[in-house]
Amino acid sequence: MAHINEDMLKLPGGYLFTEIARKVGAFKESHPQAEVISLGIGDVTQPLAPSVVKAMHSAVDEMSRGTTFRGYGPERGYEFLRHAIAENDFRARGIKIDEDEIFVNDGAKSDTGNFQELLGKDVKIGVSDPIYPVYVDSNAMGGRTGILGADGRWSDVVYMPCTEDNDFVPELPSEHVDVIYLCYPNNPTGTTLTRSELKRWVEYAAKHDALIFYDSAYEAYIQSDDVPHSIYEIEGAREVAVEFRSFSKTAGFTGVRCGYTIVPKEVTATTKDGKRTPLNPLWSRRQSTKFNGVSYVSQRAAEAIYTADGHAEIRKTIDYYMENARLMRATLQNLGYKVYGGKDAPYLWVRTPDGTTSWGFFNAMLQRAHVVCTPGVGFGPAGEGYVRLTAFGQHESTEKALERIKTKI
Ligand code: PLP
Repeated sequence: MAHINEDMLKLPGGYLFTEIARKVGAFKESHPQAEVISLGIGDVTQPLAPSVVKAMHSAVDEMSRGTTFRGYGPERGYEFLRHAIAENDFRARGIKIDEDEIFVNDGAKSDTGNFQELLGKDVKIGVSDPIYPVYVDSNAMGGRTGILGADGRWSDVVYMPCTEDNDFVPELPSEHVDVIYLCYPNNPTGTTLTRSELKRWVEYAAKHDALIFYDSAYEAYIQSDDVPHSIYEIEGAREVAVEFRSFSKTAGFTGVRCGYTIVPKEVTATTKDGKRTPLNPLWSRRQSTKFNGVSYVSQRAAEAIYTADGHAEIRKTIDYYMENARLMRATLQNLGYKVYGGKDAPYLWVRTPDGTTSWGFFNAMLQRAHVVCTPGVGFGPAGEGYVRLTAFGQHESTEKALERIKTKI
């Protein structure tokens, strides 16, 4: 008889965005005339950069000719893309990353979810709270999180709350953790860590023999000088950190699919009998077994963002979204809302008024303003009492949504 992986059954009913889509779908069905504006799911709205489109067209042309056709590519990505990443995202910032430390993937969700497979079932994970749900849910599938309590907390996960009281900077954990998930600029709060704050985490990991899984999917949105773009800007991070990056929000690749993971050669975990084992060859082994690489067309598309034109074009789109963020912050603050984030990230974290719950405010926004937001509690228990708004909309619909919030809420 085929037995179920019972860890799967411990997961809560639906993935957060599936649940939101279900509620929005039901609302639209009962209000067919309503024009619903989404400031909810973090998906981009602007088209691909012209240089990216051109590169994709020419890659398709190559695929159409027998002499230049490509079949399976290298699982860890074509050399041309790994070289462009190493040069532009790291060496240009004075960070040493070798091409064979880069693993190109189909986006950061897969690797942030899959990387836990390299670890033993008994490792203790720590997460800042609220957090992108994939880290905890994938560890739950791996049997590492214990039981989900009524308060939304897993019994075996260490939560590091990020609240107004600590300026959304998590405290170092008070009990031992083996793996720490950090995401900066943060989804959902839109807040960041300064270089000195991140240094504390790298030092903590080195001292306590922990690993940091650092998700910097929103790195391209950083505007402030003292906010690091990569954890490898911090001395000692090569020994303790794996970094996940994505072209999804950097270059509008949510539909194209491409990202990458950095696994430095120095980063290790131990076997039960204490033998240090490097993660880079282990991840390579895992990927070559379970992953067959990203399409050639997507990789040529990603390469194009590192050209001078491509770079200028994607910056223009990022500026477009950040202008939305600026307008949203200013308008909501004028309306008296407490608003966080939105300065170095495309997300705003908004305190719900008068003690309304996250889902209560979500419902009010949907029913009264026909605007979709994301309930903060869906990102972890410390997200209760907040909603997340995204700056990825069109200017016109963002302005319209703000006007409705002003008049209807
Ligand atoms: N990491 C964070 C923090 C995210 O918010 C997202 C997407 O919203 C991802 C990773 C996954 O992005 P993708 O799989 O599109 O690269």
